[in-house]
Amino acid sequence: MRDVVRVVFLGTRGSAPVSGDCFRVYGGATSCVLVNFIGVDIVFDCGTGLSNVSSYFSGNPVSIFLSHPHLDHVEGFPVSEFVYKDEFSVDLYSRARSDFSTKDYFSYLMRMPFWPVSLSDLKNKIRFHDLGTNNHLVIPSTVSGADISIQCFEVNHRGGCTAFRVSQTISGIEKSIVYATDMELSKTERAFWDFARDCDLLIIDAQYTDAEYAERTGWGHSRISESIQFAHDVGAKCTRLFHHDPQRGDRELADMEAGLPESIRFAKMFEEVELGSEEKAVAQKLSAGTMTN
Ligand SMILES: [Zn+2]
Ligand SMILES: [Zn+2]
Repeated sequence: MRDVVRVVFLGTRGSAPVSGDCFRVYGGATSCVLVNFIGVDIVFDCGTGLSNVSSYFSGNPVSIFLSHPHLDHVEGFPVSEFVYKDEFSVDLYSRARSDFSTKDYFSYLMRMPFWPVSLSDLKNKIRFHDLGTNNHLVIPSTVSGADISIQCFEVNHRGGCTAFRVSQTISGIEKSIVYATDMELSKTERAFWDFARDCDLLIIDAQYTDAEYAERTGWGHSRISESIQFAHDVGAKCTRLFHHDPQRGDRELADMEAGLPESIRFAKMFEEVELGSEEKAVAQKLSAGTMTN
């Protein structure tokens, strides 16, 4: 049995997908992260990166956790081929917002005149769940004793956004991942520091430089500098800065990364991080697989 949790970054970009040579390394597709836990696959968000996710599925049950329904986090759903396969089965969880249920998000996205196929036309088994006020749930694993624990935290973002802490205990050792995109750290409750404490992998919004933030305070995203400080504060063992601004190309991200500790990096498209005996980046594919729409 594989005893390593694998994380694959399939969409790292924030706000809007981008394409071109200057986005090949850190990626142009919007938010989507797959985690192959032992006996279950978890997907965070349905940005354009979702269109590549099916080739990384392990064959175990799949659950998708949507942080919030902004377009850059849902637009990959209608354009992902696997969604149209009859045999596809998934549980999709999110928090209801603005009188829209989780199912409403996608039924509104997939309807004429915006999209030619409606949600009701799909023959597959997509089960939509509203998280409501339930801040802790358990997702079963096919491996006995390895069920997934999910905790939720509402972070500060325009329209609201949920951060997730996902944990699995294998052979008495817990591995935990915090996925916290689209959040303004300086306006988020202090309890979030405890929520993320001592996680093995922290994936966190880091969209703006300090100068950009001065112009965009209240837009619901964090400064790179404060996300790095947060990673130190909570003792994250490994950190991937996430939701890159669409204006920021590979050269600028690489320059900013140069002075950081080895454990803190900007997330790269198709990067795989394994959480086993030690966290390490095992592969970084620079192939031309970036979504361009
Ligand atoms: Zn976003
Ligand atoms: Zn957002």
